[in-house]
Amino acid sequence: MRVELINTGSELLLGFTVNTHANYIARQLSDIGLRLVRQTTVADDRAEMRACVAEALTRSDIVLITGGLGPTSDDFTREVVAELIGCEMHRDESVVAQITERYRQRGLKLREQILVQAQIPVGAKVLANLHGTAPGLFFEHVGKQIFLLPGPPRELYPMFESQVLPRLPHRDRLDCRVFKVARLPESTIEQLVAPALADLPELELGYCARMGEVEVRVIAAPATAAEAERRIRAALSENIFGTHDDRLEEVVVKTLGTAGQTIATAESCTGGLIANRLTNVSGASEVFPAGYVTYSNESKIRLLGVREETLKSSGAVSEETCRQMAEGARQCAGVDFAVSATGIAGPTGGTAEKPVGLVFIGLATAAGTIVERHHFLLDRETFKQLVSTYALDAVRRELLVGRTLTGSRDSLTK
Ligand code: ATP
Repeated sequence: MRVELINTGSELLLGFTVNTHANYIARQLSDIGLRLVRQTTVADDRAEMRACVAEALTRSDIVLITGGLGPTSDDFTREVVAELIGCEMHRDESVVAQITERYRQRGLKLREQILVQAQIPVGAKVLANLHGTAPGLFFEHVGKQIFLLPGPPRELYPMFESQVLPRLPHRDRLDCRVFKVARLPESTIEQLVAPALADLPELELGYCARMGEVEVRVIAAPATAAEAERRIRAALSENIFGTHDDRLEEVVVKTLGTAGQTIATAESCTGGLIANRLTNVSGASEVFPAGYVTYSNESKIRLLGVREETLKSSGAVSEETCRQMAEGARQCAGVDFAVSATGIAGPTGGTAEKPVGLVFIGLATAAGTIVERHHFLLDRETFKQLVSTYALDAVRRELLVGRTLTGSRDSLTK
């Protein structure tokens, strides 16, 4: 069953209007077990629209078209479709009556041009528009279903839900499950997940990477999706920090709360971003009493007790400074965990020994302190975001696994 959507409107292609219909209709369809196989946006251009609709009619069983049903010169969806399937147009007096009544109620003068919306292709069913003047249209043509729907969202949504959905075939609903992973690159995740799912039938597997996080998405019939989830959890285990709309900072705050533990931050290159993300979560005050933004050497010494000799011998961006920042924050704030970050966000300030992108992330707990070394060659803001994600995920993993922390980890992640 091929279902295709065509959104018409030059404003969508000029970038003035975001095509929210595509998103809305895709989600409505998934609720009844249907999937869009193709979506096209086409300008208000008769030849382009004709070519686009003609193509869709050759390859799809259900074609949904939005926009271009109004009374102005750039509205010609009705005529294009009628022409393509060889229907004459006729004036539908019940539509004339509806439009006339709507204008009367609003005290507006009805011009003849408005009634072009009552020109209906012979054989089409009228879908009443309770929120506007242009009716929707429905055709059954050589075994295909064709829907013409109004552009304005307040007209489209109620019509879709009350008059389109009941006419569409309903399939078993597909289950969409999303798993979120921080720190692992997409390719590594694929190596772990894809072989584990290879024998599951009719399963769609997808990945979406964004700034230190990857979403693994499976879509399948409910029983297959449940089995896929079991295998994905086994393959990725503690690497999964959440599902669907979960945010990493939310998971960290909740996990700390459940464990009755507290955290402080000691930030240099992230400028408070880790603290900002933690405090974006409601309930953060229960677990986060203090954050220190120590950008200068002087503030690292004064606020966190970093030793002057360390800064002189190793520098501000070093494993030892990062360690002392985390331990100092833990002690000053009197918390269970303290996370620290010091690095060179760039674009200036790098040297051969300490290049732009070098960063140390520290985590101090009662069991000891761990410092990780990474290298993220990114623009400044993405660098900060990525470092904050790594730092938050370090806390989450530690809470989950509760290892004894000692020493350092070396990871040159690009
Ligand atoms: P009208 O009677 O208003 O002319 P119509 O059915 O001809 O209705 P359009 O003219 O194509 O529809 O669109 C009307 C308005 O609806 C647009 O200006 C735009 O604001 C909104 N719209 C149309 N298509 C979309 C879309 N795909 N996503 C979001 N908004 C849309």
